[in-house]
Amino acid sequence: MTAKTISVQCAVAVDQAYTYLVPDGMEARPGDIVVVPLGPREALGCVWNEPADDVNPARLRAVTGRIDVPPLDPKLKEFVDWVAKYTLAERGMVLKMVLRSSDVLAAEKPVTGVVWHGEVPERMTPARIRVLEHLREQSVWPKSALADVSGVSPGVVDGLIEAGVLERTDLTLRPVIKAPDAGHGVNDLNDAQSEAAELISEKVRAGDFSVSLLDGVTGSGKTEVYFEAIAEALREGRQALVLLPEIALTQDFLERFARRFGAAPGEWHSGVSGRARARVWQGVASGDVRVVAGARSALFLPFADLGLIVVDEEHDPAFKQDDRVIYNARDMAVKRGHIGGFPVILSSATPSVESRANADAGRYLHVKLPERFGGAAMPGVKLLDMRSDGPERGQFIAPSLTAAIAKACEAGQQSLVFLNRRGYAPLTLCRRCGFRFECPQCTAWLVEHRFRRKLMCHHCGHERPVPETCPNCQAPDSLVACGPGVERIAEELVSLFPDQRVAVLSSDLVPGIRAMRTLLAEIAQGHADIVIGTQLVAKGHNFPLMSVVGVIDADVALQSADPRAAERTFQILSQVVGRAGRDGTPAQAFIQTYVPENPVLKAIVAGDREAFYERELDARRKAGMPPFGRLAALIVSGKDRNAVQAYAKQLRYSAPRVAETEILGPAEAPIAMIRGRYRMRLLARSARHVDLSGIVRNWLENGPKPTGGMRVQVDIDPVSFL
Ligand code: ADP
Ligand code: ZN
Repeated sequence: MTAKTISVQCAVAVDQAYTYLVPDGMEARPGDIVVVPLGPREALGCVWNEPADDVNPARLRAVTGRIDVPPLDPKLKEFVDWVAKYTLAERGMVLKMVLRSSDVLAAEKPVTGVVWHGEVPERMTPARIRVLEHLREQSVWPKSALADVSGVSPGVVDGLIEAGVLERTDLTLRPVIKAPDAGHGVNDLNDAQSEAAELISEKVRAGDFSVSLLDGVTGSGKTEVYFEAIAEALREGRQALVLLPEIALTQDFLERFARRFGAAPGEWHSGVSGRARARVWQGVASGDVRVVAGARSALFLPFADLGLIVVDEEHDPAFKQDDRVIYNARDMAVKRGHIGGFPVILSSATPSVESRANADAGRYLHVKLPERFGGAAMPGVKLLDMRSDGPERGQFIAPSLTAAIAKACEAGQQSLVFLNRRGYAPLTLCRRCGFRFECPQCTAWLVEHRFRRKLMCHHCGHERPVPETCPNCQAPDSLVACGPGVERIAEELVSLFPDQRVAVLSSDLVPGIRAMRTLLAEIAQGHADIVIGTQLVAKGHNFPLMSVVGVIDADVALQSADPRAAERTFQILSQVVGRAGRDGTPAQAFIQTYVPENPVLKAIVAGDREAFYERELDARRKAGMPPFGRLAALIVSGKDRNAVQAYAKQLRYSAPRVAETEILGPAEAPIAMIRGRYRMRLLARSARHVDLSGIVRNWLENGPKPTGGMRVQVDIDPVSFL
């Protein structure tokens, strides 16, 4: 008789499945989740389809156990394969994003209870008497609690069960999962919304793969519209997934969902932990959870029958994960829809240039909502030229912005002041000797966080107290803060408006995602007059009372050498401006800049998004940049600068020569050192139809290998170029 063997892909950093023996009496079919020995430890894995290697069974180790969850769908395995291949991550690391951890897979521990129906045992003991005393007070108990309060061993309670005096019962608390109901709280849609909803619902009914770009200005009702697509998926008996940037998963969003569907969606993000996480994972796999609203990692949940993915704020860089498996959840969502054969909806007020090009080329259905709901107007936008209209030295808020905020306060309305820079000041220097505080491990200035009394590195977390004297020349009181961060803007606003309530929304001032959501909800209800925020505030929040928006420094992103600088600036400014005037109150936005002639800023003032897309698409086409070409970045890093440089050069010379593909670099990365590792970048660029992932894989397989603690990270379709 031949021993039965299977191949198992472990959820660790390996690319191939290993062969294991299946012990007698165990069933293990493809897709099953198993625990296997791996080196000195045990690992989670999934039974893969590949034929087992031709190895001597005597040398094989046996599967330790099978976990009692539904097997992974072959299409999900195909997706894992594809993501691994595309991103050049090990397949096991992608599988790990599906399986998460054994906690998520573990069965709920049942709580055994006992019920007493009033009978008394024939034989009485002092212990039994004590138990019965408690049962007279309360007839149902968790078994262990009954033994505890009675001060008896669990055996006494077991004895009473055997004697037929007590009956076992299951007391496990399982939250009732209420199914969302497609017909619950249907909103009346206006004509444009109805038309859009009809177009995308039709795609859901068709049930095949398609991508729709739901492209509507802020406040046009995109959420209402894609809710109808979700309703359609529910009517078809399918599951649906909504991906949102983590911070956009607010209470407000969940409540809106519940109003529309009569039940909350399953939630999946870093704020959900322990049992709640396991319940969503297992509920999704069993089909009990019908809709999930989640951050990017929800894309890897094992849905039993997924029929729709909505990616809200699809342009948001937060969908890109840049460690371990480097992937863009927006793009991978499209692929999951492609493999699964179901529709995907990308929603945004400022679609990424990629998605816009796909819509223009007819690959995506372009569904437009050009106007705000309920006749609300977009805010008027004014550029404030800081060269002529700026504030006095040492201040950062222009007088016309201050005046507008004052007016809003008088009218009982809110103002939002935006600056995408955490902390108090981005640079601290000694005015006597010119010394600047720099991170010892990174190419970066230390940012002063006055609230915490620390100088901090935003790249590695290094921190030190602010000293009394200059560490270089020992001069006392000589340190000065240069430039503003949100804390400094808050200080200025508090001194300008001492009687108003000023709130700062910055990730390092609010402990955790839950607290941040509470604060956002309070602000939306009017518990602040002036709000200062980083990019967090730009993400999909509704602040009905907001009538003035001020942007402190529009030039931060524009000045960078990043090929996406124009796009990022356009998106973030449009989103921030779009926070104002949602309830129909006339609103005004002010953008402070030193380059008012910049075409991106001009397009925003004119409210002319087409001008932006036209210009940007044209520039990308000419330069062969995405989406008209492909990019892959290779980041070489290591402790030794010379070794990194030498290796990066070697790598460059070993690059394959492929038609319509060119290699740029190596060049020192803009942040040349992070956490003590020196960094060089290479960039591969190819035509659109070229398999750039495949080329890079061959290149790395055949090229020189990094040695001595050096590392090569591959970033396909890079979003960040730092
Ligand atoms: P977007 O996602 O496009 O920014 P939302 O869907 O958040 O827009 O809608 C903006 C505001 O208008 C929300 O407060 C929403 O409740 C309201 N709204 C939009 N469409 C409708 C509708 N058909 N009926 C009632 N309220 C609507
Ligand atoms: Zn650092």
